[in-house]
Amino acid sequence: MGGTFDPVHHGHLLAAEVVRCHYGLELVVFVPAAISPAKRDARPADGFHRLIMLYLATLSNPGFEVSAYELEREGPSYTVDTIRTFREQEPEAQIYFITGADAALSLPSWQSPEELLSMARFIAVSRPGFSHQSLEQVMQAFPGNLRDRLEVFDIPVVGVSSSEIRRRVRNGNTIKYMVPESVENYIVREKLYLT
Ligand code: ATP
Ligand code: MG
Repeated sequence: MGGTFDPVHHGHLLAAEVVRCHYGLELVVFVPAAISPAKRDARPADGFHRLIMLYLATLSNPGFEVSAYELEREGPSYTVDTIRTFREQEPEAQIYFITGADAALSLPSWQSPEELLSMARFIAVSRPGFSHQSLEQVMQAFPGNLRDRLEVFDIPVVGVSSSEIRRRVRNGNTIKYMVPESVENYIVREKLYLT
């Protein structure tokens, strides 16, 4: 599962767990992006903080792991590069890419989307405000055999986003129960998202 995770929240965690259990995945690896190609103008919190928050949030789940792979490379993080490398490292593994329906809608504009679909099965989970129908329309851009590599999966929707959490912290509003307690404590301790 890729993303900025600025910060990780219960929407990410619930999506990952429900997909992991439904598809019988051995492991979900959270891979925070150094710079998301889709968010070039945004300045995310330091990768180090985002990584630590991911560790705190995933520690209690043996089915979750965190990878610093994209943070250790320079420049924008292209999912296709990451998946290529993961495939080389684990040639026997079947790779799934978990994404929210919102992110999946922009798939045609990602780097090498066809190669990406051929390497990994995409599981696009529901997210409030994003219809499955428009996603199916977007997928029409791909040849039939690749179209089938993306599957829409219904999950109990969590209407939380990292941008809302950042906004709430900035405005002095509570983020309790939106992120794990350990992540909340870390945000307070490191004075993240105040400006
Ligand atoms: P931002 O508001 O800064 O864009 P975000 O909450 O969307 O943050 P990202 O790091 O952009 O978090 O998302 C990483 C991945 O997790 C994306 O594929 C996104 O669609 C998915 N995702 C994020 N929040 C949810 C949620 N509440 N439910 C389901 N999927 C989610
Ligand atoms: Mg997002």
